[in-house]
Amino acid sequence: MSSSQLFSGDSWAARFRALPKAELHVHLEGTMEPATVVALAKNQGETLDESTVATRYATRDFNAFLEAYKWVTSYLRAPADYVLVARRMSEQMLAQNVVYAEVTLSAGVMLLRKQDVEANFCAIREAVAPYESRGLHLQWIFDAVRQFGAAAAREVARCAVKLRDAGVVAFGMGGDELARPASEFRKVYDYAAANGLRRLVHAGEIGGPDSVRHAVEILRAERIGHGIAAAADPNLMALLAERFIGLEICPTSNLRTGALAQHLGRANASLSDHPLPRFFHAGIPLSVSTDDPAMFGTSLASEFDLLEQMGLGKQQIMSIAEGAFHGAFLPASEQSAFFEAFRAKAEALSLL
Ligand SMILES: [Zn+2]
Repeated sequence: MSSSQLFSGDSWAARFRALPKAELHVHLEGTMEPATVVALAKNQGETLDESTVATRYATRDFNAFLEAYKWVTSYLRAPADYVLVARRMSEQMLAQNVVYAEVTLSAGVMLLRKQDVEANFCAIREAVAPYESRGLHLQWIFDAVRQFGAAAAREVARCAVKLRDAGVVAFGMGGDELARPASEFRKVYDYAAANGLRRLVHAGEIGGPDSVRHAVEILRAERIGHGIAAAADPNLMALLAERFIGLEICPTSNLRTGALAQHLGRANASLSDHPLPRFFHAGIPLSVSTDDPAMFGTSLASEFDLLEQMGLGKQQIMSIAEGAFHGAFLPASEQSAFFEAFRAKAEALSLL
């Protein structure tokens, strides 16, 4: 059967895939398919094969994942490397009908490697322009690495503020959330927000409910990366719902990094253990994302496929897909334009 035959049916899943989607949690560096890493290595005079990259990516715990991330980002050395990765990411997004994405860039890693963040970012913006004219709207998040500390985070925030008018919409923080307390970063977040940036924090991925609470109360995060630890704290879940603080849920990532198993105190976890349905039923705004799709062997379409296996109904899945546009850091007018386009397409596909 050809691929066109596979997707030509009018099954619910095929029609759902045709809807315009938004992705709010994806790291550019995590979109590097093995073939892309091989190409970058070749340009740098190193012979690497795809199976070696795949083996490096096949991590089962969080520290191993951080090591793999560190390794693969070591191939991003010059603006041209980022250009290649940004083009391939954009192609993959358009192929999945992603029309809007907020893409995270590890500016903290660029600075650690003494790279010119502005030169990298300008090259990326130029590289994605042709895809934007084909209907992909991108905004950017500059991410600090938590374990590098507040001074390094401040430098990331400074770069983000400088490039705000060039498409950086938010300041975020990833890495090892257990390494340093949120309070160390309060001033950095206040500086970023005072200069027009939105606030994001990876929290409650491997840390506990307090990590999420501190992200909300100390850093005033507007959305939380992951936040799965909130499942253990009904009061925190109520707080997130009440304040409309969205959780960016990345189910495959939570399995592959071992984060979910860790919260359960077990060696392994499966999809049926994931708290996403509980969050949904508690009224917490949710979006579904890939996090690092190449490293975890997933795609946005695959992540949405998992929702049915998690027991959600078709209209509930639709509302999560639609909800991602509500959670986007966009002016209200642009947000409603996406929202209307989603509804119109859903109607045309008889999905409503
Ligand atoms: Zn992430």
